[in-house]
Parts: sequence; structure tokens; C-alpha cells
Amino acid sequence: AKDAGRNCLYFFDPEMQQALSARAQMESELRIALQQEQLLLYYQPQVNAAGKLIGAEALVRWQHPQRGLVAPAEFIPVAEASGLILSLGSIVLRQACQQLSIWASMPSLSELSLSVNISVHQFKQPGFVDEILALVERFQLVPQRLKLELTESLLIDDMAFSIERMKYLKQKGVGFALDDFGTGYSSLAYIKQLPLDQLKIDRCFIDGLPDDANDAAITRIIISLAKELNLWVVAEGVETEAQWKFLQAIGCPGYQGYLFGRPVSAEEFMKSALNSK
Ligand code: C2E
Ligand code: CA
Ligand code: CA
Ligand code: CA
Repeated sequence: AKDAGRNCLYFFDPEMQQALSARAQMESELRIALQQEQLLLYYQPQVNAAGKLIGAEALVRWQHPQRGLVAPAEFIPVAEASGLILSLGSIVLRQACQQLSIWASMPSLSELSLSVNISVHQFKQPGFVDEILALVERFQLVPQRLKLELTESLLIDDMAFSIERMKYLKQKGVGFALDDFGTGYSSLAYIKQLPLDQLKIDRCFIDGLPDDANDAAITRIIISLAKELNLWVVAEGVETEAQWKFLQAIGCPGYQGYLFGRPVSAEEFMKSALNSK
């Protein structure tokens, strides 16, 4: 009650109260969403330097009954904070693997790879490795076509554990991409130790291309670093012809961004993938 003393003032701050209940509200709605299968995956194309479709990134969306399609920036943080990210992550993985198996059965899409975002809690779960391997088995996937996207902060937090876990999955054929590369704090010594297949150059470095001299220098360096380390590179957030031309000229092998296609439903993705052939 209000007269219980100063310590309760906090709870009567109307703005704070509003923020707390909005979060609690979203959490309970998210719980329902997970049960009622309101989450779905969108797929954004990835192309090679010749512009050929080589794969996609799976990006989660929430088909909310009242609010329509909700972007992950709005609910992933709530899912992380509440622990719901574990069931969300499992749903995403299963849907992604199922989609990959559908592509694998279609002659013109059978070579596509699929990248899936993995959150820190999910990666550290005791059952994570078995979950991945069970999905590969269940959907009869070529494991090399499944790429798990991890972020730097996730990995350096417990390097030895991360390396061991990644090495085990990699030995089974599953690939790893380091997401948002360049935005974290990890040193190059760490990068060298990780059994990665791919770096994804964060969109913030692509934005300023080709005119921003710093962005140009940074992307050049990341691409040559990746070559030295024998890693594939995907430039994220490529939106203009000028960015695309610049990146081609400096030898970037992989591309993703609105210039090549926005994230779309599985159905739409398949339609445009088949048309592009
Ligand atoms: P991300 O992994 O860095 O994904 C790339 C984001 O950039 C996506 O936003 C994508 O729609 C957007 N994007 C792609 N090309 C362009 C472009 O040319 N211009 C611009 N302005 N944006 C572009 P989205 O789908 O809203 O996802 C945001 C973030 O949410 C993702 O960033 C990822 O961190 C997280 N996320 C998405 N799906 C999942 C998931 O299934 N699990 C987990 N744990 N996180 C996810
Ligand atoms: Ca990603
Ligand atoms: Ca990214
Ligand atoms: Ca990002």
C-alpha cells in the first residue's frame, strides 16, 4: 500500500510501472505465442559475387493476433530476459531445419544453405549439441548446409567451452558464422582460435560505402583478414548498387541485403528463388 513507506515509492512511479507492465504483458503474450505457434520464419537471400543465390538467413517474426507482424528487436530482448528464448530458439531451429529439408528435395534449391541465429543461452544449454544433431538426423540434412550464427560476446565469455562445443559440431559438419563482426570487443587472437567458417561484416560498416574512407578501410581489412584465415565473408545490409560494386571490387565473396531481397515468407522466398533461375 501507499503508506507502507519510502521503499514503495518506486512502484508508484507511473512511467516505471508502465514499462514494467508492458514488459510483463509482452512476456505473457509471448508465452502464448510459443504455445499457439504464432512465431514464423522469414528468409532473406544471400548471393555470391556473381549475384547467384546461394542461401538464406532465417529471421524470426511474430504473427501477433492484434498487432500484426512484430519484428524481433521488440521481443527477442524480452525472450532473453525471461528464459523464453530457449523454447523460442528450439522452435526456430526446428522450423529452419524443416525448411532446409524442403529445399533439399527441390532440384533447383537443393544446394542452398541456411543460416540460423543462435542466442547465448541457447548455445550454452546442456542439450544444445544433441538438439542440433537430432534435427540433422530427423530431417536428413546435409549438415554443411546448416550455418549457426553466433555473436562475439557470446563466445569470448567462456572461450574454452565455446571452442569445444563448436569443434564438436563442426566435426559433425555443421558450420559457424560470426555475426555482426567488427562491433564487438574480441581480439583477433580469439577469432583465430574459433573454428569458424564465416564472418558477417556488420551493416554499420557497409552503410558508409563507398564514400566513407574509414568504412572502406575497415571492410577491406576484414575481407583480407578473412582470406588469410580461410573464412567466407558475407557483407550484411547491402542496399545500393554502389556498395555492391565496391564490395565486388575488393573481393567480397558473399552478400545479403535489401538490394538482393528483403526477408520474406518461405512461400515467397521459394517463388522468387525459382523465378530467378
Ligand atoms: P541480425 O542477425 O544481424 O539480422 C540482420 C538484420 O538486418 C535483420 O533484421 C534483417 O532484416 C536486417 N537487414 C537485412 N538486410 C538489410 C538491409 O539491406 N538494410 C537494413 N536496414 N536492414 C537489413 P531483423 O529480421 O529485424 O532481425 C534483427 C535481429 O534480431 C537479428 O539481427 C538477430 O540478432 C535477431 N534475430 C532475428 N531472428 C532471430 C532468431 O531466430 N533467433 C535469435 N536468437 N535472434 C534473432
Ligand atoms: Ca544474423
Ligand atoms: Ca548480423
Ligand atoms: Ca545486427
